Amino acid sequence: MLQITNLHASLLDGTEILKGVDLSVNAGEIHAIMGPNGAGKSTLSKVIAGHPNYKITDGSIIFSGRDIKDFQIDERANLGIFIGFQYPLEITGVGNVEFLRAALDAKHKFLNLPKMSGDEFSAKLSAAMSLLEMDARYAERGLNEGFSGGEKKRNEILQLLMLEPSLAFLDETDSGLDIDALRIVANGINHFVSGAINRSVVLITHYQRLLDYAKPQFVHILQNGKITRSGDAGLAVELEKNGYEGGE
Ligand code: ADP
Ligand code: MG
Repeated sequence: MLQITNLHASLLDGTEILKGVDLSVNAGEIHAIMGPNGAGKSTLSKVIAGHPNYKITDGSIIFSGRDIKDFQIDERANLGIFIGFQYPLEITGVGNVEFLRAALDAKHKFLNLPKMSGDEFSAKLSAAMSLLEMDARYAERGLNEGFSGGEKKRNEILQLLMLEPSLAFLDETDSGLDIDALRIVANGINHFVSGAINRSVVLITHYQRLLDYAKPQFVHILQNGKITRSGDAGLAVELEKNGYEGGE
């Protein structure tokens, strides 16, 4: 599904942040990326999304057989790449539901699929909101407007469940969640992955606790712009004990 090879990316001023990242994710897999602050984890997800603040200077990103390096941000999203942001933005004046409706309609149009009916959309929205234990009034509020940190993270998962991408990068979606919210969010992630065979998730996290609920088959450590170690779920447990500098 995703094959990243020797990816180098810089800020527009030329500062190199990603220094040769290799990562492959097959359909149906859950991966976790861990690593110290400032390692380049969020940069990696933004570069995959096509964020204009970064430029790729070397390497390739193959998604579903296509090199997406020169694709626009909306093309990537419509083709099935989703990013749950570490710091979701508040957009005053854009309703949460209107945003979801517009994003879903744009995706269907891009893929030449029929527009989803109002009834189908409403049914899907209420099923997703009830899975995430979100009160109906969150649908009517401005996009993330006045949401607490944890509510914003839950709202990212609502977008995930509504847009049904094939590849989701979830950047610290567990940060700021209390233990009940963590379980609910992990449940949403598991529901997403098990909803179809061709869905994959990359969880960027600092904490083993999310991985107890949404279990990755692969764990990678990103340090100084590169993946320095990869292993199975046991690697996350080891990191929690020994830190990133701990024994090889
Ligand atoms: P992580 O998510 O692993 O904590 P980031 O990808 O957010 O790390 O950042 C990696 C490094 O790149 C940091 O030193 C950060 O300050 C820098 N960086 C990332 N994006 C920008 C930007 N738009 N402008 C300036 N510096 C940036
Ligand atoms: Mg980050």
